[in-house]
Amino acid sequence: MEIIQNYINGKLVGAENGQSFDNYNPSNGQVYGQIPDSTQGDIQSAVDAASTAFPLWSATTRLDRSNLLLKIADLIDANHDRLAAAESKDNGKPIKLASRVDIPRASANFRFFATAILHESTEAHQTDQDAINMTLRTPIGVVGCISPWNLPLYLFTWKIAPAIAAGNTVVAKPSEITPMTAFLLSELCIEAGLPAGVLNIVHGTGPNAGQAISEHPEIKAISFTGGTETGKRIAATAAPMFKKLSLELGGKNPNIIFADCDFDEALKTSVHSSFANQGQICLCGSRIFVERSIYDRFKDAFAKKVNQLLVGDPADPSSNLGAVVSKPHMEKVLGFVELAKEEGGTILTGGHQVKLAGALANGYYIAPTVIEGLAYDCQTNQQEIFGPVVTIAPFDTEQEVLMMANSTQYGLSATVWTTNLQRANRVSSELKTGIVWVNCWLLRDLRTPFGGVKKSGVGREGGWDVLNFFTEKKNVCIKL
Ligand code: NAD
Repeated sequence: MEIIQNYINGKLVGAENGQSFDNYNPSNGQVYGQIPDSTQGDIQSAVDAASTAFPLWSATTRLDRSNLLLKIADLIDANHDRLAAAESKDNGKPIKLASRVDIPRASANFRFFATAILHESTEAHQTDQDAINMTLRTPIGVVGCISPWNLPLYLFTWKIAPAIAAGNTVVAKPSEITPMTAFLLSELCIEAGLPAGVLNIVHGTGPNAGQAISEHPEIKAISFTGGTETGKRIAATAAPMFKKLSLELGGKNPNIIFADCDFDEALKTSVHSSFANQGQICLCGSRIFVERSIYDRFKDAFAKKVNQLLVGDPADPSSNLGAVVSKPHMEKVLGFVELAKEEGGTILTGGHQVKLAGALANGYYIAPTVIEGLAYDCQTNQQEIFGPVVTIAPFDTEQEVLMMANSTQYGLSATVWTTNLQRANRVSSELKTGIVWVNCWLLRDLRTPFGGVKKSGVGREGGWDVLNFFTEKKNVCIKL
C-alpha cells in the first residue's frame, strides 16, 4: 500500500480526521494506495501555514525565489523515471507518454516561471499635468490551485509554479483520482528547501477539500482546471466573495481537414490528436470534419491507422493507448458509444471495451473508436466525452464547416489543415475558440495565452497572462 500524505506547513501529515480512501491502479483495477480524506479543518491548517509564510515569501528576492524553483525543476528531472512510472501507474497513461511529455513538462513549468520573473517589467505613464503614473505589481496573498486527473503533474505544476514564482503562497489540491505525483512533488519541495507554508498540498475529494478551498475567505484567488459543471460550482461559491478566478474547463474541439492539406501529415497528426492519452486531453480533436472530395480516402486511411493502434499495459513502452483513468469514466465513455449508436452512428472501428489477459484483466481499457453518420448537432457531437472516441463527417463549404465547428457550447481549441494561407487566416479568425492549431496540434510555447471561450472557461494561463492573474496591479500617480 502506498500511503499518500498531505504537505502542510512543510510537513507530511495525514488528514486530521484520520480518514483515507482508496487509490486505484487503472491498468488492473486494484487498490494500491490510500489518499487522505481531507476536510475543512485540513484546509484551515493549510491556509494558516500559507498566511504565516506569505510576508516572508513575498519579500524574498526574485533571484532567491527563482533559484528555489530551479532547484525543484532539477529535482523533478533527477527523479524523472520514478515520477514517470508513478504517473503511468496512477493514471493509466502509457509510460512512454509520461516519460516524454508529462514529467519533462512539469520541470519545464518550474523553469519557465523561475526565469520569467527575472525579466518582468511594469508600465509607467507620463501624464500631461506634470505627473507620472507607475504600475506596481504585487502578489495577491494566499491563492488556491485545483487541478484535474488527465495530466496530473503537468497541470498541477502549471498552476503552482507561476503562483509561487509571483510571490504568493499556495493551498493546492490535485485530483483525488491521480494524487500520487503531487505527493512525490511535496517530498521534492522539502528536499529543495522550499520554506514551510509556501506550498501546501492537501489531498481529498472535490466536495470536501475542493469546496473548502473555494469557500475559504482568506483564499483570494483560485486557479481551476477541470470540468465545466465543477467550474460553474466554484464560480457560484467564489464570485460573491469577489475572488479572482481563472477557469480552464471542458472542450469539444473540431479538427477541420480541407482537401488542399498535406494529407499524410493531417492523417498522422489526427490519429495523435484524437487518441493521445486515451483521448483524455482537453485539446484532443474529437469532431473530425473532412472536405467531401477527400472524405472517403481520409476516412478509410484514418480508420485503418486507428485500428492498428495497440491498446495495452501502460508500463509496456510499445503500447499506444493505456487504460482510461477509472471504472466510472470507462462506463461513461462506453455509454456515449451506445448513445452514438442510438443516434444513428456507424462504428468504423473500436466501440468496445478491451479485455487484456492475466493480471490486467480487470483494467479499464477501451478500443480507439471512430464513428460516422451522426448529425453535427446530436448529443454525441455536442457533449464532451473525454475518451478515445471521435466522430468523423464530411463538409462541402467553409461556411458550413464553420457553422458546425462553432455549434457547441464549448470553445477551447480547434485544428485546421490547409496549405492555403488565406483560408487558414480566414477560418482561424472565424472559429470561436481560444486556441487554433494550423497544420499542427499541441505545439506548445509556454509564453502564449492558453484558455477557452464560451463554456470552456474564463481567463488565460501561460506567459505574462498567468503572472498577471497571480498579482494585483496598483497605479501610483506622482505629481512632479
Ligand atoms: P472535475 O471537474 O471533476 O475535477 C477537477 C478538480 O476539481 C478535482 O481536483 C476535483 O476534486 C475538484 N473538484 C470537484 N468538485 C469540486 C468543488 N465543488 N469545489 C472545488 N473543487 C472541486 O474534472 P476532472 O474529471 O478531474 O477532469 C476532466 C475535465 O477537465 C474535462 O472536462 C476536461 O476537459 C477538463 N480539462 C480542461 C483543461 C483546460 O485547460 N481547459 C485541461 C485539462 C482538463
